[in-house]
Amino acid sequence: MSNRPEGAVAQDEMPAPLTFPPGIAYMDGAFVPISEAKISVLDWGLLRSDATYDVVHVWQGRFFRLDKHLDRFLSSVAKLRMTLPLEREALARVLAGCVARSGLENAYVEMICTRGVSPTFSRDPRDAVNRFIAFAIPFGWIADEEQRRRGLDVAIARDVERISPRSVDPTVKNYHWLDLVAGLFEAYEREAENVMLTDGAGNVTEGPGFNIFALSNGRVITPDIGVLEGITRGAAIDLCAELHMPVEITSLPVATLKAAEEVFITSTAGGIMPVTRLDGTAVADGKPGTFTAKLAALYWDKHQDPAWSTAVDDILT
Ligand SMILES: *Cc1c(COP(=O)(O)O)cnc(C)c1O
Repeated sequence: MSNRPEGAVAQDEMPAPLTFPPGIAYMDGAFVPISEAKISVLDWGLLRSDATYDVVHVWQGRFFRLDKHLDRFLSSVAKLRMTLPLEREALARVLAGCVARSGLENAYVEMICTRGVSPTFSRDPRDAVNRFIAFAIPFGWIADEEQRRRGLDVAIARDVERISPRSVDPTVKNYHWLDLVAGLFEAYEREAENVMLTDGAGNVTEGPGFNIFALSNGRVITPDIGVLEGITRGAAIDLCAELHMPVEITSLPVATLKAAEEVFITSTAGGIMPVTRLDGTAVADGKPGTFTAKLAALYWDKHQDPAWSTAVDDILT
């Protein structure tokens, strides 16, 4: 007779252990393999999503717009009244250290500050000891190669709206993703590949980890409120200026988006990516737009430009 509780899984029936991507993390002052980077279950980052983070990428050995990511991360940490155990320059060296030790040429580099654990487990967030973690893993894409070539098929969520900017400050990059995840499940049910959420008043906001743009009547529009001010969004805006394309940062009604000549999304996880179907209907002729392609090509060119990128090795020397 087993004294195991009903439904418990025997050791030999346990699922295979998780396999980790190659990568290096930095925690508690040391670099460790990604598989060894672990936090307490009592960390408020886990229990309350009380955390902020940022993701910068490295492409062919160079960070892309690292200063802008550091600015945003430091500002997010300050807005949440957290403190980091290291200064800006040391932070940059830790990120570069993770990448160099990982050996990755193309990397997704995340920095996190969690509220941490309160030594007495009091409910007062001021008692918690904030925790800093960083890691580098292989570069990841929101859209796979085929999706980037033909454009994404995206649903606009009907059952859930983006959390209000009056509730959670969207300019602090955060893990309040239950609305975005619910939206993804809704999109999958509707046989779409990804999702955009609205503000509940007929305007699109953003999707899971990306900002939204429409090319309409000779100008590019991207939402002004209820969104993270994405670094790739900023890059797209700067590149539009280089291409003499006017940009309006203003509300973007669903109807305007659906009637647009071109639609694209922006994210550190993949750059500038075309959207060719919305709610099951083709955007314009259903092919990735020529302006989107031009912008994306220019975006990738900038990865070698010292005004836009920094060699990982230069940070370490
Ligand atoms: C990270 C993120 C984005 C995209 O920002 P980038 O800095 O361009 O990567 C957009 N929206 C949300 C909610 C995000 O978390």
